[in-house]
Amino acid sequence: MHIVVCMKQVPDSAQIRVHPVTNTIMRQGVPTIINPYDLFALEEALRLRDVIGGEVTVLTMGPPMAEESLRKALTFGADRAVLLTDRFFAGSDTLATSFALAAALTKIGEEFGVPPIVFTGKQTIDGDTAQVGPGIAKRLGFNQLTYVARIVDLAPEVGTITVERRAEGGVQVLSTRLPVLITMLEGVNEIRRGTLEDAFRASRAKIVTWNAADAGITDMTKCGLRGSPTIVKKIFSPPPRAEAAQLIATIDQSYDAIAASVMSEIFKSQPALEDDLMRFSAGP
Ligand SMILES: Cc1cc2nc3c(=O)[nH]c(=O)nc-3n(C[C@H](O)[C@H](O)[C@H](O)COP(=O)(O)OP(=O)(O)OC[C@H]3O[C@@H](n4cnc5c(N)ncnc54)[C@H](O)[C@@H]3O)c2cc1C
Repeated sequence: MHIVVCMKQVPDSAQIRVHPVTNTIMRQGVPTIINPYDLFALEEALRLRDVIGGEVTVLTMGPPMAEESLRKALTFGADRAVLLTDRFFAGSDTLATSFALAAALTKIGEEFGVPPIVFTGKQTIDGDTAQVGPGIAKRLGFNQLTYVARIVDLAPEVGTITVERRAEGGVQVLSTRLPVLITMLEGVNEIRRGTLEDAFRASRAKIVTWNAADAGITDMTKCGLRGSPTIVKKIFSPPPRAEAAQLIATIDQSYDAIAASVMSEIFKSQPALEDDLMRFSAGP
């Protein structure tokens, strides 16, 4: 089975700063990484491939430097990498991004085999909208399974898939027909260390690089800024909380002393809890 994983190269948010005067994000000198949520999607795709056979292609839309992230994905064991890059894509919002990625996925299907499963991460750590996956699914006419925590069953011969989806207040078990787009939750698996062979292969691999025309896109008004109705009115850092943190224990204290300080603070705000505990510990 051919599986495609959409991955975005993002600035390492741990190192991002907001300009104190203009309130814009200062991207200069900030290292880029694979969107961490996308690694859970990649690992799930690799696991499926290991069980049922086939290939995993990773796809990213971004500037030429996004090739670095694709090569990294190859070191984890992906079989093929496709970079969609064109100046026409600059400034894409989620609508334009999902348009371009859907076109590239169609082209990937024509060139390398139609993927019955496309994975994305749950969301990115920069745009954070979680809209691109569902946008791709809608454009391609795929069923969509969002916030998936586990793939319970995959039956390619009958074209069905069953997953666990984490929802507010519980877990849903959902079955649907392929083709499907899955947005994978974080923390549900651990990305493997690729083999040495994967590392050598990745360093020499040819990254398939397509511009808009290569991906079969003819309507440029749907790409980049022109195809992006989102308008950024303002970016700002949230104001600091009015309530300052309170130091109630220090690390050089014994565990008993720390526990006593914490309990005493809790009881100050929840006096009834102390009475309840006393009654409970006194027994019937
Ligand atoms: C209000 C707002 C303002 C913005 N302003 C700007 C701006 O001024 N300039 C700018 O450059 N960007 C801007 N963006 C970001 C831009 O819209 C997003 O980077 C892009 O559309 C992807 O959306 P996202 O990051 O929210 O992805 P999500 O929808 O959160 O991503 C979900 C998943 O889709 C996949 N995916 C997402 N993007 C890609 C990709 N490029 N390639 C492959 N897979 C992908 C990944 O698997 C990811 O985990 C803005 C976003 C918002 C919401």
